[in-house]
Amino acid sequence: MNDHTSIEEAFRLTERQKSALKKLGIATIEDLLLHFPYRYENPADFKWIKDVSAGESVRVWGKVTKIDYEKTWKKKINIAHASIEDATGHVGAVWFRQPYIAKMLPEGSCAIFAGKISVRKGALYLANPLYEIVPCSIIPQFSSVAPAQRLLPLYPTSEGISSLWFQKTIQKVLSRFVALRDLPDPIPQEILRAYHLPDRAVSLRLIHRPKNLAHAEAAKKRFAFEEVFALQLSRLAQKEMVKQNPSFTLANAKEYAEEFERLLPFLLTKAQQRAISDIIRDFESNVPMNRLLEGDVGSGKTAVAACASYIVARNRMQAVYMAPTEILARQHFEGLCKLFAHSNLTLALLTSSQCEKFPSKVDPHRSTHIARAQALRWFNEGVVHILIGTHAIIQKRVSFKNLALAMVDEQHRFGVFQRAALRTKNPKIPHFLSMSATPIPRTLTLAIYADLDLTLLDELPEGRKPIETALVRPADRKKTYEFIRERLAAGEQAFVICPRIEEPEETDRATIEMKSVKAEYAKLKKEIFPEFAIALMHGKLAPKEKEAAMKEFQNKKANIMVSTSVVEVGVDVPNATIIIIEGAERFGLAQLHQFRGRVGRSDKQSYCFVVPTKYSAPVFRRLKALIEAKNGFELAEYDLQFRGAGELAGSQQWGFSDIGMEALKNIKMVEAARHEAKKLIESKTLGRYPLLQDKINRLSTQPIHLE
Ligand code: ADP
Ligand code: MG
Repeated sequence: MNDHTSIEEAFRLTERQKSALKKLGIATIEDLLLHFPYRYENPADFKWIKDVSAGESVRVWGKVTKIDYEKTWKKKINIAHASIEDATGHVGAVWFRQPYIAKMLPEGSCAIFAGKISVRKGALYLANPLYEIVPCSIIPQFSSVAPAQRLLPLYPTSEGISSLWFQKTIQKVLSRFVALRDLPDPIPQEILRAYHLPDRAVSLRLIHRPKNLAHAEAAKKRFAFEEVFALQLSRLAQKEMVKQNPSFTLANAKEYAEEFERLLPFLLTKAQQRAISDIIRDFESNVPMNRLLEGDVGSGKTAVAACASYIVARNRMQAVYMAPTEILARQHFEGLCKLFAHSNLTLALLTSSQCEKFPSKVDPHRSTHIARAQALRWFNEGVVHILIGTHAIIQKRVSFKNLALAMVDEQHRFGVFQRAALRTKNPKIPHFLSMSATPIPRTLTLAIYADLDLTLLDELPEGRKPIETALVRPADRKKTYEFIRERLAAGEQAFVICPRIEEPEETDRATIEMKSVKAEYAKLKKEIFPEFAIALMHGKLAPKEKEAAMKEFQNKKANIMVSTSVVEVGVDVPNATIIIIEGAERFGLAQLHQFRGRVGRSDKQSYCFVVPTKYSAPVFRRLKALIEAKNGFELAEYDLQFRGAGELAGSQQWGFSDIGMEALKNIKMVEAARHEAKKLIESKTLGRYPLLQDKINRLSTQPIHLE
């Protein structure tokens, strides 16, 4: 048996266990060893029920043998009574005003209870204890194992496999491996020594069988380091590979950029100018650009992208611009057509359902629909200079004559996999620019974008006023509508965002969201704003209908747009100054900030009203952070520090484990990992560490989850 042995070979498993392991993604012995406890319990912290006494705060663990309710006669307060049993006796528990307890804690279930022991009519009971359901198997008196002297690890489980099974099986594996010294460590010894990190075999023992929490923490830190280090290495190795290939050198970049500026109806901000200089520098070298343009919502990333594509097009080469939604692709297409109307350039729009070219032969001021086959030919022959679209533009059949620039808007929505596809359309590697308004903390930027050079747009266009954000309580709703009525009457426009529906199935969700947005639409139209025109937008509309709704709003034919989250990113209607976000507590902070970015896009004062459907202290704290934060980066730091890395926007798609994500709170560690990774790559000594090489090879072929 070694770490790559399949678990089915090493252990005799029932069918249920096999399918549970599969669900948890555990196939090999190594996977099993990397299945870490999510928490530890210290048996010494628990009291036997026979030993508890009145007035004490205790932790007990046991089985619920009975649970029922009464309603107090006078005040009609709901009281739940339970009886909890361990090997030494039983004790009552009482909860006030928690009518759902019986559902959460059915008879026969086991749990950990923490609370104060009180007396009532001479009997002891736990008053309003906190509880956490645990598998009965971990509780010493209900299990066949002798009570653990050490911390008891609790493992993530799945139907058909218990925490206890993991505990026992992992112990077996560990005792064999540690004896055999057969668990090779991918991290070079020098690095382990330099940062006082325990080696892999020791860490595995510490994390699965710690004597105390400090040991478990040390082990977690080591695995977090390994994860961050490997990711950095794989990104940096990719960057090295990209650098080996030549790219396109673009002539007269500076002159063309100046020409571009003269086309704009406004002056570029200092930050936009800096970004364009960065890009020009990359264009003039023959090394492929690999740059991330990060700027808060409204900082004007599109103009920078437009300038880059203009330089390419004037060189008679090709640029593509990929947007995350059809609405955005069309918006960018139309914006660029207008801007480049007299520049003698050919533009095209390609989505899964639409295909257009600008200018039309008949009318040089308009775009026209064209056949897909014709469009593909034109891309291939280099007739089209700038192609804008959704992910339809990276299908296999799309090819280019000389693709010099690939741009991705809101790139966190696309995986590395797709990014790679963008790059390989040509023997020469195109310059690559990705744009993101997703504010992420600095540690994360360092960790996941190791392969990208970073340009920050840290400035909004001149004259932008901070958006006023307010929490709307039920009693304020009427007043808020009246305020909005005044602004609408003055010619401004409003978005109304309908709450997100929580449904596991993606398709179901879209349907339910459509229903809710329609209901809101009907209510606003009939009861609240009958005098105004309202447009309706949701994901289930056909592309044509979406386009029509958007047009209506852009042309000010509609005063209000009621929408689901499909307008979350990028949509640019500068005359809109108001956004109401219903059910605000269901959205993440980063998402709320994106919504808020739909307004404040002109020099008019803008307003964002967040309307929670539920109130609680955490909801209030979170929304308060939104109200007070000056920009998206402050919000992202807040999310990381106060809510945990798992809450960061898009965290699932970055490919970190929970441990890796938590490590991102520690900037020193991320910097150390980055430093060491850089050293290894620059000294070209990675080849000496085959295990590490193997690990990063696996990382770079793993597609990141796509939306
Ligand atoms: P984002 O960075 O969120 O993608 P956009 O590129 O959509 O922002 O720009 C937001 C709005 O600001 C657009 O209406 C755009 O035309 C306008 N804008 C961009 N740059 C400037 C500038 N330098 N001065 C004035 N308005 C600008
Ligand atoms: Mg944008």
